[in-house]
Amino acid sequence: MIRDLTHFIAGKPHPGSSGAVGEVYDPNTGSVQARVPLASAQETREAIADAVEAQKAWAEWNPQRRARVLLAFLRLVESERAELARLLSAEHGKTVADADGDIQRGLEVVEFAAGIPHLLKGEFTDNAGTGIDVYSMRQPLGVVAGITPFNFPAMIPLWQAAPALACGNAFVLKPSERDPSVPVRLAELFLEAGLPPGVLNVVHGGKEAVDTLLTDSRVEAACFVGSTAIAEHVYTTATAHGKRAQCFGGAKNHLIVMPDADLGQATDALIGAGYGSAGERCMAISVAVPVGRATAEALRERLVSRIAELRVGRSDDQEADFGPLVGPDALERVRGYLDLGVAEGAELVVDGRSGTFPDGGFFIGPSLFDHVRPGMRIHREEIFGPVLSIVRADDYEQALRLPSEHEYGNGVAIFTRDGDTARDFTRRVNTGMVGVNVPIPVPVAYHSFGGWKRSMFGDLNQFGTDSIRFFTRTKTVTSRWPSGIREGASFTIPTMD
Ligand code: NAD
Repeated sequence: MIRDLTHFIAGKPHPGSSGAVGEVYDPNTGSVQARVPLASAQETREAIADAVEAQKAWAEWNPQRRARVLLAFLRLVESERAELARLLSAEHGKTVADADGDIQRGLEVVEFAAGIPHLLKGEFTDNAGTGIDVYSMRQPLGVVAGITPFNFPAMIPLWQAAPALACGNAFVLKPSERDPSVPVRLAELFLEAGLPPGVLNVVHGGKEAVDTLLTDSRVEAACFVGSTAIAEHVYTTATAHGKRAQCFGGAKNHLIVMPDADLGQATDALIGAGYGSAGERCMAISVAVPVGRATAEALRERLVSRIAELRVGRSDDQEADFGPLVGPDALERVRGYLDLGVAEGAELVVDGRSGTFPDGGFFIGPSLFDHVRPGMRIHREEIFGPVLSIVRADDYEQALRLPSEHEYGNGVAIFTRDGDTARDFTRRVNTGMVGVNVPIPVPVAYHSFGGWKRSMFGDLNQFGTDSIRFFTRTKTVTSRWPSGIREGASFTIPTMD
């Protein structure tokens, strides 16, 4: 039976009145499992209006009380975590174990944001001038919008919403219409945890809903995660309408394998980070860069034999290494890139289209290209599927240039046993996040996440202290008390001498 999903506005399910709907697939079978309402501009404005009202009282709660809501939320998620992971996996297609990791990485940012009483503390200067104290405080922005991608339907909404809410903002979430059930369930759990109705609204939709969030003057800031083309549109539109914006886009992440690397470790890393979640991760490794011919030949041989052991299966198959892609468009895109790579002259060593998969679903096996060269579209563009490309480098400097000169700059990794090489690489490489013998260097919640170049538009990263700065405005107060005022009116600019 096809489920009918709802928006979540003012603490209640809201069926939607636009008449427009999107289809949510079951990636394991290829059939439609749910219909999701897509909000009109008018419905989106109503959700914003409701958030504006709710935010006023929420901002007056003291930070410790707000933190208690986050702590209660953590307990509630924990109590139905297995169910949430199954729901996430059933709409996305990632394995249940991987879906649990998606939830876990989101919860870690909620844990970070629960430290909000400490994080919100301002600065204080005693006696900046005679009898004068100067202090700063961080105040919430008001209503903030979040637009999130399909590939982490728990983690990314929580990366955005938890710090935004902790800072005293209301949050209007526009999750991906491709796997929308988990974001709504998380909003329901926030309500149960004590979040006042309307402080977190979830509105489904496409361009019309997003553009309304970006242009409505009552929305103070926009957080976006998704493809680079849309990230750029969101950034340009939001900032042109006077909003703060942080927009995180696509990626092409390289893993450099130096001749002295532990090849077994590097192979494991490439297999996990290249094919895990069917390559549908912005921090997936999609390019392996062996340095020197001997490294390339040995690495290729190991990769081919490991790929042969991989199991592609239904997302609820506990033995599966990865499941299906999210939808038919994704499957067509990845197949298209395999044809393109061959046409461009790369060698398709393993073709993921051959193989037997469960009937009907959006399955494709792991693919491996060798002899990929910079300039080919399969190297320039994000494929976002289980496709790994080998780009061979003659030496370290050439390897360093590949990620550094690429238009994307999300993550990169180097595998080596040499500290000098690793140090030189981390300092010189032109990307936002670097792993040393770590393939997917997603930072922990109390650092921050953000790529460089066309992987990010905006100034401040996601989560960590950057997020507290993003979701608040600084107010600075210079104060003295009447008994300390000794002089009359002054017509020159005050100086603290
Ligand atoms: P997407 O760009 O298709 O969609 C992202 C969001 O934008 C969704 O909520 C979608 O409904 C909305 N949207 C789609 N078309 C729109 C339009 N024309 N105008 C306004 N909004 C629109 O991305 P996706 O396919 O859901 O996610 C995969 C992409 O996200 C990949 O490129 C991946 O690298 C990227 N991603 C980046 C990060 C990061 O932190 N840098 C993290 C996760 C995913």
